[in-house]
Amino acid sequence: MTLAEKINDQIRDIVDFPKPGIIFKDITPVLSHPKLVTEIVNWFVEKAKNDNIDVIVGVESRGFLFGMMIAEKLGVPFVPVRKEGKLPYETIKYSYDLEYGSATMEIHKDAIKKGQNVMIHDDLLATGGTALAAAELVKQLGGKVGNFSFLIELGFLEGKKKLTKENEAVYSIVT
Ligand code: AMP
Repeated sequence: MTLAEKINDQIRDIVDFPKPGIIFKDITPVLSHPKLVTEIVNWFVEKAKNDNIDVIVGVESRGFLFGMMIAEKLGVPFVPVRKEGKLPYETIKYSYDLEYGSATMEIHKDAIKKGQNVMIHDDLLATGGTALAAAELVKQLGGKVGNFSFLIELGFLEGKKKLTKENEAVYSIVT
């Protein structure tokens, strides 16, 4: 079995969660398989090594799960990007449009040093709005977006197009 097949086996589709019309991809069953978790972390660590990544940015909240493990294994800092109002220290903000309304993400203003090469990580790529917001925050702090990584990409939403305007690499294990 390929890694993608093993992950696919453990992803639970929840129909109409959190609202009607959405099929939620629940990755929590993956977390109950430590050997699979190790394989996943190693897959991302290889991508990070090849692209000379020196910081992992994880997007709230499921981006924290593997993001922190990738950073630890690679031996580089982990930085959280969170929804507005959650980070305790001084932050910069970025707002983006959702289907209905808008959302704001934040990062600590001292979390990225100028010139650092960053991997933006989350569990799932849908429209790309969230990952793009994280990338904008990194760039505002003087960082460079080396690549984006996800366990799952919903190909039909074409989020990848939004993320690759400057030819950034986008890696996802399952599409
Ligand atoms: P987007 O900004 O549209 O790319 O949405 C990505 C963010 O929303 C990620 O943080 C995902 O965890 C979450 N998300 C969006 N759609 C789904 C889905 N169908 N299943 C699970 N998480 C989702």
